[in-house]
Amino acid sequence: MARISLKDVKKSYGNAHVIKGVDIEIEDGEFCVFVGPSGCGKSTLLRMIAGLEDISSGLLDIGGVRVNDLPPKDRGVAMVFQSYAIFPHMTVRENVAFGLTISGASKEEKEAKVAEAARILQMEHLLDRRPSQLSGGQRQRVAIGRAIVRKPKVFLFDEPLSNLDAALRMDMRMEIGKLHQQLGATMIYVTHDQVEAMTLADKIVVLRAGRIEQVGSPLDLYRDPDNRFVAGFIGSPAMNFLKGNAGAGAEVSVPGLASSFRPGLKAPASGDVVVGVRPQHITLDPSGATHRVELSEQLGGVSYVYLQSESGERLIVEAREGVPVPVEGRIGISYDASKAMLFNAKTEARLR
Ligand code: ADP
Repeated sequence: MARISLKDVKKSYGNAHVIKGVDIEIEDGEFCVFVGPSGCGKSTLLRMIAGLEDISSGLLDIGGVRVNDLPPKDRGVAMVFQSYAIFPHMTVRENVAFGLTISGASKEEKEAKVAEAARILQMEHLLDRRPSQLSGGQRQRVAIGRAIVRKPKVFLFDEPLSNLDAALRMDMRMEIGKLHQQLGATMIYVTHDQVEAMTLADKIVVLRAGRIEQVGSPLDLYRDPDNRFVAGFIGSPAMNFLKGNAGAGAEVSVPGLASSFRPGLKAPASGDVVVGVRPQHITLDPSGATHRVELSEQLGGVSYVYLQSESGERLIVEAREGVPVPVEGRIGISYDASKAMLFNAKTEARLR
């Protein structure tokens, strides 16, 4: 197990600055998820930790050792990729043992470690099969097994579930969570899927365009985002953002909506603000007609109602089971002002 520390880590490809100075501390045994939209630099960061990419500048420390210039095999890390990288002509047993074979492990050692990995991943019955005889989820388990037998200090996962269908993704997500509990190893996991990040992580690092937007526990980020980007990225369906106005006495109103509120900010806002309201905190008001119903998705337990205001602003309302949901026409809304968040309209910083 190992603590990982990145200090002002940067990466450039020629003139392209892909990682623009990143500081992260990952505790021993922590499950840390790097999340962000495609192209934000998650995989590059992970590959730098693995030693598959050079670090342009900064410090990378694993377990108290500066590893900037150490080759991957000497870093005590094992990586599980999105493409399984398992060999079709080998059995599961041979695939799982592959790294041990390369490093010249004895037959007894290989057998013992493969048996242990197979037990942990509940795939003892699959050991004599070839990859073509496995499902996608089982292949992914082989790739994880190959990492486990190396007993790394740190597991690195690069979008390991993105090739799987939705149901399998959920199963494997639970398995990876259990694996972390069982092994207690430090794990870093890259995904663009905020649900994976929320469900797996002890600590989430939200990245955008090569910079960190915020670091925190899943619920911290959900409840207390620092800016509009994080507020919109964490939570499903995404937070609604409405143009608002802070007038005299710092009373905030959203044009077209009757409700206004005093947000109790340390420094009163004035002028243009953005009001962030989660879909769960808006209530449909059948007596009003401020919004046009564009679409209703009734999923059984909840319904999502897509609305458009007179000024063209779109928003989503989540209605619980039992609440009558309009499928067309016009409707009013009200929102829970105590749960609304305010953002600077220009800088997108949270106003508190
Ligand atoms: P993510 O994993 O978040 O989708 P990546 O880390 O793969 O993003 O890529 C981050 C950025 O770096 C992207 O804009 C990508 O185009 C760029 N990039 C990645 N690899 C290279 C490379 N070898 N040369 C130039 N640019 C690259």
